[in-house]
Amino acid sequence: FITPDPVAMHARLRPAALACIDLATGRRWSYGALDADILRAVRVLAGKGISRGERVAVIARNCVDLIVLQQALMRLGAIFVPLNWRLSLPELARLLADCTPKLVYTDFDAAPVLPEGCWLEQVSTFIDEVRAADPAPRPPRHSGFDTCIILYTSGTSGVPKGALLTSQFLLATAVNFNVLGEVDTGCVFLCDSPMFHVIGIVTQIWPPILRGGTFIVSPGFDPEATNERLGHPDWGVTHYFCVPQMAEALRHAGNFDPSRWRRLKALFTGGAPNPPSQIRWWLDHGVKMVDGYGMTETGTTLGMPLSPEMLREKAGAVGVAGPLTSVSIVDENDEEVPDGVPGEVVIFGLNVTPGYWNRPEERDRAFTPEGGLRSGDIGVRDADGYITIVDRRKDMFISGGENVYPVEVEAALIQHDAVREVAVIGIPDERWGEVGCAYIVPAPGQAPQAAELVTHCRSLIAHYKVPKDFRLVPELPRTGSGKVMKHVLRDTARAEVA
Ligand code: ATP
Ligand code: MG
Repeated sequence: FITPDPVAMHARLRPAALACIDLATGRRWSYGALDADILRAVRVLAGKGISRGERVAVIARNCVDLIVLQQALMRLGAIFVPLNWRLSLPELARLLADCTPKLVYTDFDAAPVLPEGCWLEQVSTFIDEVRAADPAPRPPRHSGFDTCIILYTSGTSGVPKGALLTSQFLLATAVNFNVLGEVDTGCVFLCDSPMFHVIGIVTQIWPPILRGGTFIVSPGFDPEATNERLGHPDWGVTHYFCVPQMAEALRHAGNFDPSRWRRLKALFTGGAPNPPSQIRWWLDHGVKMVDGYGMTETGTTLGMPLSPEMLREKAGAVGVAGPLTSVSIVDENDEEVPDGVPGEVVIFGLNVTPGYWNRPEERDRAFTPEGGLRSGDIGVRDADGYITIVDRRKDMFISGGENVYPVEVEAALIQHDAVREVAVIGIPDERWGEVGCAYIVPAPGQAPQAAELVTHCRSLIAHYKVPKDFRLVPELPRTGSGKVMKHVLRDTARAEVA
């Protein structure tokens, strides 16, 4: 199996077709121009001595140039490592020491401590050099099992791990998303999820590239600007992918008007739980909100169909496995559980990472004897084969002997008008072992009282699930991709008790 190169194919097939637009600069690339720029970049990178298996890290905001860089490195057999630019310098230094790149591209002034033998350049310099270079001859082919991206997990549950993404992985995610998301050649993806996250560098880029469609790269998500982009009459965005928190910000923006999103097939969400009440809200406002499930380690894995009836009937489910994937739900002994019974989601397929960079022990822990990836997520399959993610295994807590899944409690609390954002964790309790503690960001001008929140919860969920403690906070601690870091909340709560 050889590294797939859909850009090269489309450059031959339809060289004039619009491949991408960079919104920061207004530049546009046809597939022919994109392919030529990638070959120029191959020459530039080879000239710097970058060769097969070597890492090039990136600490920079989204731009098409990063895609040119990633594709060029892939053609060289080298490895692209996008790092979260929102991390602190010591955190970045730790990741750089882990992946030991030869070269780091950035668009920031401050440089983290670079490991020995590594140097730093500006993204803008790279682009100038690419423009000035002649295209390299097409490099030799590489194995599709070679790693071409090291992508650090979000660090939601702890320290980020470097997942190895092969070009087989990229292709499998593109195929899964193409089929589940009804992608065709006329597709136009608006891309403003960060490229240091799997949604940003894989899910919003590879499906349109596979099809020869268009991807529009913005410098980043912004509620007002993204509303404008989705409604831009000349672009006709068909696919938009975001985490649920971004979707929430979109609908609270002053210029929100989904009637202008004329060509949008669906608003795709993933990466974090999306409460059913929110999905129904979007359906009520004429937008198909399509939730799907994936991980850094598995790319696009499960997805809902684009049928409004199914989306409403199954709101809260993440759908079925893509065509290159298979999923089991298992108990502690790795035995499959019956439909309706929660268990750990185990993922098989061409979209699964071969393991982690520098962490062979994680590989042993993460895979079942049959080679399935243990997701760490609890899921349940219904009689129609649709899977719902119940929660992360590590976030479940036990109150009075009963399992409580915070995601369910959050889904109840978010339906209260005064609650804008919420995260629930389990905290130690003398009487019940553990009880729920809800961190709440109130809606503007609101200050909900514990008593009314308890009454609200009791009308929706069992009493033992209702939090005993409510804390109003101005914001929740989130990862660069917008997920709530519950381990930070647990540490805060523990420190308060101590
Ligand atoms: P880390 O592995 O470093 O703790 P992370 O798991 O958040 O971070 P990602 O790979 O970005 O890193 O996220 C994958 C996880 O996101 C899944 O394991 C799951 O917990 C969660 N997730 C993804 N999609 C959904 C979804 N649709 N609904 C609920 N949870 C989801
Ligand atoms: Mg994870």
